[in-house]
Amino acid sequence: MNFYVMTLFPEMVRDGLHTSILGRAADSGIIGIEAVNIRDYTLDKHRHVDDYPYGGGAGMVMAPEPIKRCYEAILDKRGKKERPRVVYLTPWGKVFNQTMAKELAAEEDLVFLCGHYEGIDERILSEIVTDYVSIGDYVLSGGELPAMVMIDAIARMVPGVLTNEESGMTESFENNLLEYPQYTRPEVWNGEAVPEVLLSGNHQKIAEWRMERSIDRTLTYRPELIRGAVLDKKAQKYYKKRLSEADLPDSKDNR
Ligand code: SAM
Repeated sequence: MNFYVMTLFPEMVRDGLHTSILGRAADSGIIGIEAVNIRDYTLDKHRHVDDYPYGGGAGMVMAPEPIKRCYEAILDKRGKKERPRVVYLTPWGKVFNQTMAKELAAEEDLVFLCGHYEGIDERILSEIVTDYVSIGDYVLSGGELPAMVMIDAIARMVPGVLTNEESGMTESFENNLLEYPQYTRPEVWNGEAVPEVLLSGNHQKIAEWRMERSIDRTLTYRPELIRGAVLDKKAQKYYKKRLSEADLPDSKDNR
């Protein structure tokens, strides 16, 4: 899968994404990450990428022409007939989540458009953008961090990016549940022991314990998620028992 990022700060994207799991996937050719500098596609000698907003107001607006030329250069480079999906990162877009990450991971190529200043001239957005996506209800200085957040989450869903040990199958949001607590050595740390069941070697009991802790954690932190979870009989029984308890324990009791 190929990620193309249209940005004014390509080094930020390159540096941020070429480490750890994504760096390994890029080095082995499973994914391609290309940060393309919009400023390289300006036509004037001062390489202007922005201008004052019509109608007045604070800040600057990114001009359409360099973005159009940058986008066309990406299309030429791809050399494919069908147009790729183009994601504009914006605080007013649809809020990104794991379901969206999975859906986007099925694409062969994805193009990200990073805004800066007050944003981007509407005319280029309506010409090339297919998806308007926000990473949350707050305003950042630029679209680079949101693009990197999205690329990281999407790339993890691309087959071969995670090794078996790193499998995404048990992670938070799978089946609309949050992940159970994790422990590693030492067995007793700071006076606190690892839950006994995890040392028992009894895989069924461990699975049950993990399911129950996932339900506890989801009820505590993201109760709205659980309606979409598919629970087997035992899990349903536990969930109903928790619901019948008037006073849900806090996170410490969930361990
Ligand atoms: N004036 C814009 C508004 O009020 O919607 C905010 C512009 S913001 C300072 C500059 C750029 O950062 C945006 O064009 C967008 O690309 C990016 N950005 C900021 N917050 C974001 C968020 N929550 N999600 C995605 N992108 C964001």
